[in-house]
Amino acid sequence: MARVRTILHVDLDAFFVSCELLRRPELAGKPLVVAGGHESHPGQSRDPGRSVVAAASYEARSYGVRSALPLARSLALCPELVVLPVEIAEYARISELVFAIFAEYTPLVEPGSLDEAYLDLTGTESLNGGGEEAAREITARLDAELGLPCSVGVATTKTVAKVASDLRKPRGMVVVPPGEEAVFLAPLAVERLPGAGPKTTAKLRLLGIDTMGKLATAPTALLQATLGPNAEALQLRAGGVDPAPVKVPGIPKSVSREETYSQDLNSREDLEARLAVLSAGVGLRLRASSLIAQAVAIKMRFTNFETVTRRRQLPEPTFADQELQAAALELFAEAWTIGRAVRLLGVGAEGLSELRQMSLFERGGERGERLDLALDGLRGRFGGRAISRGTGSLEAPLDWNRDHLRRLTDS
Ligand SMILES: [Mg+2]
Repeated sequence: MARVRTILHVDLDAFFVSCELLRRPELAGKPLVVAGGHESHPGQSRDPGRSVVAAASYEARSYGVRSALPLARSLALCPELVVLPVEIAEYARISELVFAIFAEYTPLVEPGSLDEAYLDLTGTESLNGGGEEAAREITARLDAELGLPCSVGVATTKTVAKVASDLRKPRGMVVVPPGEEAVFLAPLAVERLPGAGPKTTAKLRLLGIDTMGKLATAPTALLQATLGPNAEALQLRAGGVDPAPVKVPGIPKSVSREETYSQDLNSREDLEARLAVLSAGVGLRLRASSLIAQAVAIKMRFTNFETVTRRRQLPEPTFADQELQAAALELFAEAWTIGRAVRLLGVGAEGLSELRQMSLFERGGERGERLDLALDGLRGRFGGRAISRGTGSLEAPLDWNRDHLRRLTDS
């Protein structure tokens, strides 16, 4: 028999909102969302543009406001809503503090997003006590040291741990003892099963399968006929069987930043300024992960939703803002015609490899890279806004669209 695992799924509650409340405690208890690029308050005239909600406080949720809902609709549901701009760099900074605490319990940490992770604590009982004890301690430390509330599920599989962490939000802790996985899942709605999307659950409901228990015991052939080849794995997971390991992420395929504008940009000056900011964001991310890139890509979506991408190999791998930016600007010059309005712009670094510590300083003459590292250090100390290269930076109004949300799901 395989050994019984101890897996935690830790999920911070309304993470972006919690981050904002750390510096805006006077807003605690108010219906509050993080969305778009501007702060606004009840009674002010507001222009929600195309923004969607990136995170909603539990007070806002009681009005029906939730992540991914258009801000315009959210304001209609709750005119008392306080809207704070998305400050993703700040949330990423706080996220690193959260993950530093996780790392004290186990090296086996699989991030799901900025604010959630699986921790495999199997075999660490002598260090951490059992899963439940570790969960209590992590919860207490996130609260005491960072001021952040979270919910935790403790189980023998990732699926069960994730379902458990979601069950009693906020500040929920649910422990599913070994052997009780199927019994725990059985009465829960199929919509709670991770990996069962709306199309899948709609098909299941047409078959009369509305709980995980019914899914676990349905005829497999019927499920395969309806859902296709993944049906069996889904069924097993609904019955509490999930051998998937907690995976520590390796080198990503690419690192990218993109933004959607509430008003399309059509001047070369504005677009180039945003490309510079996006390139710097990609560079910062590469350096933070000790990665170098061999290619740069840009993505542009025009007003008619036509999307073009362009890619270029770099003469030498780099993580320097200026080299990334130079390549992005060249690609832009090739792909853009004067006056054409752009609604989405993105910059990506591809062909990534790990930077060996030594090579950083062995590679002579690379002033740009060293300067960027020095600037990152200062940014870390004084905040991202404090310092930028002398090129200036245009603060264009941004929207947070579903592409962002998919990467940064927050609940
Ligand atoms: Mg969360």
